[in-house]
Amino acid sequence: MVSRVIPVDPFDLTIFGGTGDLARRKILPGLYRRFRAGQMPETSQIVGAARSDLTEDQYRDEVHEALKEFISKDKLESNAVDGFLSLLRYVSIDATGDKGWSELKEHQRGDHISAFYFSVAPSLFGPIAERLHEHGIADASTRIVVEKPFGRDLETARKLNQTLAQHFDETQIYRIDHYLGKETVQNLMALRFGNVLFEPLWNSQYVDHIQITVAETVGVGGRGGYYDRSGAMRDMVQNHLMQLLCLIAMEPPSQFEPDAVRDEKLKVIRALDPVKPEELVRGQYTAKGKTPSYLHDVENEDSRTESFMAMKVNVSNWRWAGTPFYLRTGKRLRARQSEIAVVFKDAPHSIFGEEAGRHRNILTIRLQPNEGMTLGVTIKEPGPGGMRLIDVPLDMTFADALGAENDNVTDAYERLVMDVIRGNQTLFMRGDEVEAAWAWTDPIIESWESRDRRPYPYEPGSSGPEESAMLLHREERRWREIRE
Ligand code: NAP
Repeated sequence: MVSRVIPVDPFDLTIFGGTGDLARRKILPGLYRRFRAGQMPETSQIVGAARSDLTEDQYRDEVHEALKEFISKDKLESNAVDGFLSLLRYVSIDATGDKGWSELKEHQRGDHISAFYFSVAPSLFGPIAERLHEHGIADASTRIVVEKPFGRDLETARKLNQTLAQHFDETQIYRIDHYLGKETVQNLMALRFGNVLFEPLWNSQYVDHIQITVAETVGVGGRGGYYDRSGAMRDMVQNHLMQLLCLIAMEPPSQFEPDAVRDEKLKVIRALDPVKPEELVRGQYTAKGKTPSYLHDVENEDSRTESFMAMKVNVSNWRWAGTPFYLRTGKRLRARQSEIAVVFKDAPHSIFGEEAGRHRNILTIRLQPNEGMTLGVTIKEPGPGGMRLIDVPLDMTFADALGAENDNVTDAYERLVMDVIRGNQTLFMRGDEVEAAWAWTDPIIESWESRDRRPYPYEPGSSGPEESAMLLHREERRWREIRE
């Protein structure tokens, strides 16, 4: 199957933090892939902006090195690389001072779409927004992209929203949650709202429970300082896992349009019950062999920050009352695995007798690795010997189904940046959504902070603390295995 690439209109994209880790690893390689796929007009321009004193050639060399590191060799044809590098400009700028702003203004061509990616610390969002206006660089048609973390609680998120709102209208602000750019996540909507098969069953009458797992094998790495102030709840649950929950739980929007989709997601967040302390488990990884402990990684022996979090979440509305959502995420777990599992109820009556066995239908939506979906269906075990039932997967791995070369299987960042250029906000979080998510998470965090408990220890390479398994066991359910 050959992908259909629809080119976007020519644009000027400025990346504040154009020399930073995110730009090198994700944004610039993603833009290269879109250029190579023919989606990016050659009159477009990408301006790297950071404090470092670099010439344009030095910046191009740096970006070239990043491409070599993050793009496979067979996709680095010299004409594509040269063409892409020729779109790059560089401005040495100080987000909090005067340096570089008039030069940046010279790079803006009035007849192109103008977007600014704030790939810098959130403390710089305000100063950058202010200067873009002061220097007459931004106007009512400008788009800005902001990165997580979007605040660390409701108060800080509100302040950040207010700061941006002083300079930009909500329709100009693209708050990135890269989980929403994943192919599978959008396929979740296609699955639900493009087929008649699932939606009639998508409710508490037929669904026993839903599990959302985002497991990582890495520790906190070089981000120890940031992570220790944040923890799994702020770093993963408040944004990524809640966004996934919203897409699974929301009512069908009347149209696939930004505000129609975001209104429905917001209603889900507002329908979430408070989480009881006994229905959440926080964990912290210990040392094992040569693998250092969390406390060692963050250089804070007294840290009570969680590197693992599991919780039961109830969505109080007609569709989901009685069907719990179990959320789980953590670092240094057994495997890197992100998936949503929709576990359907048992068939109401087994006509084959108990000895034939019983299996539940489970729809698994894999975000990584190998994006795709699997539906477990029950069939008869082949051969003689009576009616015995087995569970077989109907498997659809996107790379297999669509062809590994297919450029439709794009990385989340490149898809989202192209959406910014297209002016489509559907896959970006609206300000009120972010605030509602913090309004739900704040009391949960405050509740455990007031009790000052240490998180439960768990071994690297495990599935998290024992207590997390208990969360489901006591309701006669169990987590799906985290496996290689
Ligand atoms: P980083 O590696 O520390 O890069 C920060 C960038 O900002 C550098 O290019 C730096 O360049 C520039 N910068 C710093 N102070 C500046 C100033 N006063 N004026 C102009 N430029 C300035 O950070 P990052 O990891 O790329 O993260 C960027 C943002 O994305 C952060 O908000 C982070 O939370 C978010 N994020 C990152 C990741 C990730 O995987 N890295 C994932 C999700 C979200 P100079 O030092 O040359 O000025």
